[in-house]
Amino acid sequence: MAAPQRIVIVGGGLAGAKAAETLRDEGFDGDLTIVGAERERPYERPPLSKEVLRGEKDRETARVHEEGFYAEADIALRLGEAATGLDPAAGTVTLDDGDTLPWDRLLIATGAEPRALPVPGGDLPGVLALRTLGDSDRLRDVARAGGRLVVIGAGWIGCEAAASARELGAEVTMVEMADVPLAGVLGATIGGLYADLHREHGVELLTGARLEAVEGDGRAERVRLAGGRTIDCAAVLAGVGVAPRTALAESAGLAIDNGILVDATLETGAPGVFAAGDVANALHPFYDGRRVRVEHWANALNQGPCAARNMLGAGEPYDRLPYFFSDQYDAGMEYSGLASARDEVVIRGDAAGRELIAFWVAEGRVLAGMNLNVWDVNDQVQALIRSRAVVDPAKLADPDVALDPGALAA
Ligand SMILES: Cc1cc2nc3c(=O)[nH]c(=O)nc-3n(C[C@H](O)[C@H](O)[C@H](O)COP(=O)(O)OP(=O)(O)OC[C@H]3O[C@@H](n4cnc5c(N)ncnc54)[C@H](O)[C@@H]3O)c2cc1C
Repeated sequence: MAAPQRIVIVGGGLAGAKAAETLRDEGFDGDLTIVGAERERPYERPPLSKEVLRGEKDRETARVHEEGFYAEADIALRLGEAATGLDPAAGTVTLDDGDTLPWDRLLIATGAEPRALPVPGGDLPGVLALRTLGDSDRLRDVARAGGRLVVIGAGWIGCEAAASARELGAEVTMVEMADVPLAGVLGATIGGLYADLHREHGVELLTGARLEAVEGDGRAERVRLAGGRTIDCAAVLAGVGVAPRTALAESAGLAIDNGILVDATLETGAPGVFAAGDVANALHPFYDGRRVRVEHWANALNQGPCAARNMLGAGEPYDRLPYFFSDQYDAGMEYSGLASARDEVVIRGDAAGRELIAFWVAEGRVLAGMNLNVWDVNDQVQALIRSRAVVDPAKLADPDVALDPGALAA
């Protein structure tokens, strides 16, 4: 394929903005456009449930780049405009204002969309989502006004929002279908630590509980659970996950299955069309060609640049292990790898004091590790996962044994 002259990036989030930066860093000097549906200069989302939500940091601190960066780098930012049509054969993308942009390479970095509450009243005013800066502003206002916030879903967004809302002085009830928070990723043992954490901080955590309806006279005033219990509230936060935004790719006939299907270099089946970030479901070399789609900050941060280099012909596979972090109250954690919540859990450290490394192990091999209030071990945890070494669980649990495959050998 000839060297590109015109590159369009659809999606002005972290993946899109970092891809644009990388293209210029790598010497691409042709036309470069970011089309972003939000009327916001690209920003990072993790602070939206943490410091920015709590009002400890200004929203401007969340920006990916300083004001002026895009003009200086000659990157056209078309904000408040959505791409609505894509024609890979013609090499064009159509915007909602009717404009058509030609491209030689295209990156789809459209991210993910919060799921609505699938119950009667799930769309009433006062039922909030948490994805954008505006969402974070609205939730902060609700939390500061006092009253009760009902959080539906004790996943990462629900848990972080509940923690920040408590710190802002709101009463919080968190409703979760599983037996513990974060059950799908962490399983019962480690999820149980998060249940204790939230309860100690005054969250009313209802587990094994199912939402039946949101009720109120023109706005959300209470929720009704299966079994008939009702909970009065000032607002409801829907924390029931996100869906990859695949509509544009679908309109172009690209292959979709839990996101946009891309190869290990992040290219779709349409030559010259790439996808990165939350929306991309990529073949992963470390996982023997299995597909991986994650909704993690680090994935957007690193896949955007990888896709950019590959748009310029690098042919570089994206091979980083999944990695994410979360902060709730005084509990900070990092998680690397991919495991099933059903895999065996080995704990090294102090579970009661919430200072530990947890490992998910299958057939003697470490698949994932999570350090909770223990720092500077992430590289070792990732090296252990990459080694695929068979380890002795007793040594893995022993803080006196070095975290390296040789020392831990079974
Ligand atoms: C509140 C919150 C807290 C988080 N905290 C953490 C954390 O602590 N740790 C962690 O690892 N991850 C965290 N994440 C996840 C992380 O922020 C995401 O993985 C990351 O934002 C994904 O970046 P992205 O660029 O792929 O997509 P997005 O950030 O979703 O950006 C996509 C952009 O594309 C735009 N767009 C969509 N369709 C179109 C279109 N057709 N035309 C034009 N523009 C379009 C969207 O409006 C959006 O601005 C958090 C997410 C949220 C919401």
